[in-house]
Amino acid sequence: MSTVLSEQELDPAAADYPAVALFIDGAWVAGSSGRREPVYNPASGRVLGHVPHAGADDLQRALEAAQRGFGEWSAWTVDARAAVLHRAAALIRERADVIARTMTLEQGKPLSGARGEIMGSTKLIDIYAEEAKRAYGRIIPFERDVELSVIHEPAGPVAAFVPWNFPAGSPNRKIAAALAAGCSIVIKASEETPATACELVRCYAESGVPAGVLNLVFGVPAEISEQLISSPITRLLAFTGSIPVGKHLAGLAAQQMLPARMELGGHAPVLVCADADPLVAAARTAAAKFANAGQVCTAPSRVLVHESLHDRFLEALVEEARNLNVGDGLQDGVTMGPLANPRRLEASAAFVSDARVRGAELATGGSVINRPGWFFEPTVLAGVPLDARIMLEEPFCPIAPVVTFTDLDEALALANSLPYGLAAYAFTESAATATKLKHGLQAGIISINHCGGSVPEAPSGGVKQSGYGKEGGLEGLHDYLITKRVSHRLA
Ligand code: NAD
Repeated sequence: MSTVLSEQELDPAAADYPAVALFIDGAWVAGSSGRREPVYNPASGRVLGHVPHAGADDLQRALEAAQRGFGEWSAWTVDARAAVLHRAAALIRERADVIARTMTLEQGKPLSGARGEIMGSTKLIDIYAEEAKRAYGRIIPFERDVELSVIHEPAGPVAAFVPWNFPAGSPNRKIAAALAAGCSIVIKASEETPATACELVRCYAESGVPAGVLNLVFGVPAEISEQLISSPITRLLAFTGSIPVGKHLAGLAAQQMLPARMELGGHAPVLVCADADPLVAAARTAAAKFANAGQVCTAPSRVLVHESLHDRFLEALVEEARNLNVGDGLQDGVTMGPLANPRRLEASAAFVSDARVRGAELATGGSVINRPGWFFEPTVLAGVPLDARIMLEEPFCPIAPVVTFTDLDEALALANSLPYGLAAYAFTESAATATKLKHGLQAGIISINHCGGSVPEAPSGGVKQSGYGKEGGLEGLHDYLITKRVSHRLA
């Protein structure tokens, strides 16, 4: 298995990898801690550059800047804020090719996927900018001399934490919602994909976001979250990442009674019903399963197929997996890149060996690819026992476990049997079955006859341990607003 190489072994792309810095109170700074860590190219395992760590005083300056920034930004008209956000979206689109290359270098996904993510995330900026104009309150018929109303206001300075799997999509969801709502933000992007976040923040700053309104930090995640969450300046916590870290941060927030928005992991079931087209279901499942090398919180990760379709479905899914062109995401024609870090590579190998020991059949793939970087074969496991780790823990890797079912109610119970509830998918030609499943599946994001992920136009978010709060749509904006009830005696 390839491991991290020595820091001396620079990646050939290091020369044009963008400089990474903290952005505090409108200025790019190196950070006062004197610490830094290497950033790797997952396609080579070599060092691209370094990300500086914020010290406690940097974080305090960021918080105070956000407090001042909030005072200024929240007083702007909603039209003026929207104009800045539309400019930022346009600038990000203009620079999409450059930013996409940076993302592929540090995260690994194929260039087309990186570009698609960037373009898609700018749509969300535009949508939030316009939805903010419609964050209407209401006047409630009440006593004749009393005007009773409900008004919405920005929540205040936000502390946000985003992971490495969507280096543009994730930060943009938090930044755009906060800024459109009139909040300021201190965001910690991933230390594994920092340059993409820097390039995005540069676009916002150049588009007219005032100093202090948007602050970007990196460092030791646990130290940063503790300081930002315990500060009385912070008025809202927004986190995307794993369930264990989400629970820890929600606990810290609870000490302050700080409202929290938690976008956590899932373990999405796919139900392929007896009346579905197995070839269509296999193609659409594979496209979603192997996108971003399986490192997507909504990725289909437990495939439940009616026994009558199993053989045809499995054969088609295996063919889809084998047809993927795995390689360096910068190269033409590559459809699946490396895993983002050695942790995922090790986790993938462990899931496969655990499933095989318990009796699963390896239909294709299953191994680390013997080349520099962190590559794993697109993998399909059949006949996977329900107690295999991959059926119970969020995989976050390019492995599709397939099991059969005979009775739809049993399959539905199996789909709902885990404590997660982010996404769920079903394939059926029957309107009655679709209706039963869309009401019966315990998940916040449900797609029938395709495996659609999050879209900017509509709210996405989990139920059960997959978190609370929404991103996208009107609900995503409202998560960054507070509601006041005002009664005004007129006489
Ligand atoms: P992880 O839980 O260690 O980290 C996930 C993210 O949280 C990272 O960006 C990390 O910097 C941040 N983080 C970790 N500890 C933190 C803390 N104390 N305070 C603030 N931020 C903190 O996991 P990982 O190894 O990076 O990723 C693997 C797992 O994470 C996967 O199995 C998956 O469940 C989950 N994940 C989920 C999403 C998602 O979109 N829901 C995204 C990435 C990772």
